Amino acid sequence: MNAFQALGLNEQLVQAVTDLGFETPSAIQEKAIPILLSGTTDFVGLAQTGTGKTAAFGLPLLQLMDETQRHPQALIVCPTRELCLQITNDLETYKKHSKGIYTEAVYGGASIMMQIRNLKKGVQIVVATPGRLIDLIERKAIDLQKVKYVVLDEADEMLNMGFRDDIDFVLKNTINRESTWLFSATMPPEVRAISRNYMENPKEITVGKKNTANVNIDHQFYVAAAPHRYETLKRLVDFNPGMYGIIFTRTKADAQEIAERLVKEGYDIEALHGDLTQQQRDKVMGRFRQKSIQLLIATDVAARGIDVDGITHVINFELPDDMEVYTHRSGRTARAGKSGICISICHSKETYKIKQLERMTNAQFHKLDIPSGKDVCRKQFFHFMDKLMQADMSHGDYETYLPDLVKKFEGITKEEVLQRVAALEFSHFLKYYENAEDLNRSDFRNDRKDRKDNVKGNFGEGRPAGQYSSRGDNGFTRLFINLGTKDGFYKASFLQFILDESNLKKEVLGKIDMRKMNSWVEIDKAESARMINAIDGKRYNNRVVRMNEADGGFKRPSDEGRKRTYGPPRERKSFR
Ligand code: AMP
Repeated sequence: MNAFQALGLNEQLVQAVTDLGFETPSAIQEKAIPILLSGTTDFVGLAQTGTGKTAAFGLPLLQLMDETQRHPQALIVCPTRELCLQITNDLETYKKHSKGIYTEAVYGGASIMMQIRNLKKGVQIVVATPGRLIDLIERKAIDLQKVKYVVLDEADEMLNMGFRDDIDFVLKNTINRESTWLFSATMPPEVRAISRNYMENPKEITVGKKNTANVNIDHQFYVAAAPHRYETLKRLVDFNPGMYGIIFTRTKADAQEIAERLVKEGYDIEALHGDLTQQQRDKVMGRFRQKSIQLLIATDVAARGIDVDGITHVINFELPDDMEVYTHRSGRTARAGKSGICISICHSKETYKIKQLERMTNAQFHKLDIPSGKDVCRKQFFHFMDKLMQADMSHGDYETYLPDLVKKFEGITKEEVLQRVAALEFSHFLKYYENAEDLNRSDFRNDRKDRKDNVKGNFGEGRPAGQYSSRGDNGFTRLFINLGTKDGFYKASFLQFILDESNLKKEVLGKIDMRKMNSWVEIDKAESARMINAIDGKRYNNRVVRMNEADGGFKRPSDEGRKRTYGPPRERKSFR
């Protein structure tokens, strides 16, 4: 008998998880599913994200639904829109062989009217963020009278985010519920209070140790002086060429500023924070999920609940103040049994915090030396050579060129070819790191006028050109646009807007100067016409957007030419 079947799940659900490639139930699934299938037991599951808890409650919930009744029977409340969509997506895949069950995700930042319309069609499972749910309850747009099951997912996160009253309100408005299931990574007193006040003899299951970080995470830390923090970050990214990771910062401003610097220096990174509109955040997440960007830099709030497969590294640009935040950050990697690395860049004065973290997570943290320039070059070099060796030659007519190539390389040794390839790929890179400073030194001079590696400082020389493009200002032209902060834009959202509209990459941009009514954008001369074509004449908030060359150099395209032509999707270089 299939292990999922043995837990009491029906054939359709077992088929769906088999389709997903789940072979054995995870610990939380094994323990929770039989209890939850009873439908009448209150339940507390202490489990982190990544343990398979969505299926642990999602599968029994789907099985308990009465498909003949088209009204909300189950309510799942979770802290963020991202998690809300993720849970809904997971439910969709789990129920793909089950007929007649409908789900709806309700969350802020999207049209409430659309959500109301969908709810009216009749759904059995509603997945909601607290704010939007309350809004719907107050508008009487959702009927919770017949809700039998309430799931509170990431309860500690919801309380951290200040949703305590909202949770009380929801629980008080679901008076006919037969059971309440609460999932939380940690059990602070506030979460305990919910279980005391609203649950009856809940069965409590803990997966792993309480407050314990995932054992598959290798916790590493690097001690860097404050002015070296940014350079250290770059070095660590360069030292891990296949990295697919999230960098955490404490503030939105840091996330944005570091992202801008790194983009300028040719890194494949985007920022995710609360100053972006929900739509922009979705787009960033979409690109990250599809691996068309290598790195995401995020604040804790924006990154809550993110479940992206295969994240290799989490980097704490600074250690978080709250030790529990560390567990949430590091939990973005090493999911579903995979291993991952959580790197923290910390100041020598913060090593006591590392000791606290070690105690809290019951894991050993490894202090490593910041790689030298040479280490980085060597690592990059062999990564490239590995890629060369693994190149897929199954497509393409390479043999046809072979005789000519053989002729061309006559008299050149294999060693020389390799050296030439290396020189082509790495000369700029090697030059950049040739005289790279030892960042482990504690006797650094932080008063150097030319130091450009502090986050708040000027943009540095950047990563070398070649595959890592960087550019002087002279290749730019300045564009004027009649949109500014009064239109509700922040720098990040504005940047995203013009890039999305023009389908251009951030790398083509230089300085952005935003004022209340207007802004100026520096752009690669070769791309300015494309941006103007895409944006000039477009409407934004019922106003015609004007964009033109600030210094009058760009000739307005003919009307024909001004018709927006969105090009094919931009090709991004793969970072793997
Ligand atoms: P969660 O803790 O619900 O966020 O799940 C983390 C990841 O584990 C998700 O990508 C799930 O698809 C995956 N997963 C859940 N249960 C299993 C299982 N039994 N076997 C393999 N992968 C699983």
